[in-house]
Amino acid sequence: KDTDFIEFFNKIIDRFEMTKSQEVTFRRKLPRYPIYVTIDQDKLTQVIDNIISNALKYSPEGGLVSFKVEEHGDTIQISVSDQGMGIPKKSLERIFERFYRVDRARSRKMGGTGLGLAIAKELIGAHDGHIWAKSVEGTGTTIFFTLPADLSEEDDWV
Ligand code: ATP
Ligand code: MG
Repeated sequence: KDTDFIEFFNKIIDRFEMTKSQEVTFRRKLPRYPIYVTIDQDKLTQVIDNIISNALKYSPEGGLVSFKVEEHGDTIQISVSDQGMGIPKKSLERIFERFYRVDRARSRKMGGTGLGLAIAKELIGAHDGHIWAKSVEGTGTTIFFTLPADLSEEDDWV
């Protein structure tokens, strides 16, 4: 029941790339070999959909959205970066709270309920991962999360 996370992630990114209406460029920095994880695919799809939707929602026309997967020992770190308006420092922790939205007026115009990242935090926690954000106002935002990777069959046995 193992999932190749790279293939799984690529398919989600492909779906957004085919349907996006904005002039936004996608850039992928993903390993070219499989990395196996044990995940609930529907739940992880919900998490990643929300992160990418947010990145697009807050991206300027002509912006770049970057996707990255890195291996850090026995965990993988996934990140999605945008060149949007960013999030003020004092709000960075709070965006993972239910119904929290940075700017009420602006958020209302953008649509949504403020639940996406709270659900993401819960689901990533249930997978023994962590999720956090880095952001610079006026420059952009990166959402990171980690997942435990399954031991590779390529590992040396002796
Ligand atoms: P929902 O996901 O329920 O449709 P939402 O997108 O407003 O609504 P979250 O995904 O939980 O809710 O995000 C919470 C808030 O964090 C957003 O309302 C927005 O203010 C801020 N935020 C999230 N991602 C970004 C981003 N990439 N750039 C700027 N602000 C962001
Ligand atoms: Mg959202």
